Amino acid sequence: MGSELWNEVDQYFARKLLMDDELERVLGANREAGLPEIDVSPLQGKFLTLMAQMKGAKRVLEIGTLGGYSTICLAKGVGVDGRVTTLEVDQAHALIAEGNIRRAGFLEQVEVLVGSALDTLPKLKEAGHVFDLVFIDADKENNPRYLEWALALTTSGSVIVADNVVRNGEVVDAASTDERVIGIREYMDLAQRDPRIDSTAIQTVGSKGYDGLVISVVK
Ligand code: SAM
Repeated sequence: MGSELWNEVDQYFARKLLMDDELERVLGANREAGLPEIDVSPLQGKFLTLMAQMKGAKRVLEIGTLGGYSTICLAKGVGVDGRVTTLEVDQAHALIAEGNIRRAGFLEQVEVLVGSALDTLPKLKEAGHVFDLVFIDADKENNPRYLEWALALTTSGSVIVADNVVRNGEVVDAASTDERVIGIREYMDLAQRDPRIDSTAIQTVGSKGYDGLVISVVK
């Protein structure tokens, strides 16, 4: 069993469960713009849409926009009266995302804030924002800081999801010198000992290889 089969099964499920030309166009636009293909997979994007719906989330924070693929998935989940605030450090990525968000018809629901997330997050706190759902998917070395900010910007019942926590199994390598792995391991240490959250982790395989998510609920 290997990545070829995971990919085939991913495609099978996508054919059965996803019929979203709009989101296909976003991936096409991202490819044309030369963005790295590090967005969530279509099935994972649908998971984010359903997660927002299951939670009844109306205020969503995303850290790491890229071309706005996952942003649009989240916007689909919050509905017309919901809002998604997404943070992106790279101006060029943010511009591509804004174009995709406009073409997909979610300009009213989505705000793209350009700048380093660690600079933007305190401003959101100062402005009194509280989020129902936080999706962490930016520079993994800062994941422990993002978890602290997510906790500062949420309330009891809010959900925090962090992407790419398995990294082909590297997460179990305590000797890793990869800053991203170290960031994820520190995130896991926080999840283990922080009494404010209750968490689980899900390993995933598919078109994006072997990876996974940590999902936490704020107590
Ligand atoms: N969530 C996107 C999706 O699934 O469509 C993918 C996000 S991609 C994995 C990570 C993004 O985070 C990149 O666009 C990168 O420029 C951005 N990023 C990296 N460091 C950042 C930082 N310090 N603050 C904000 N964004 C950052």
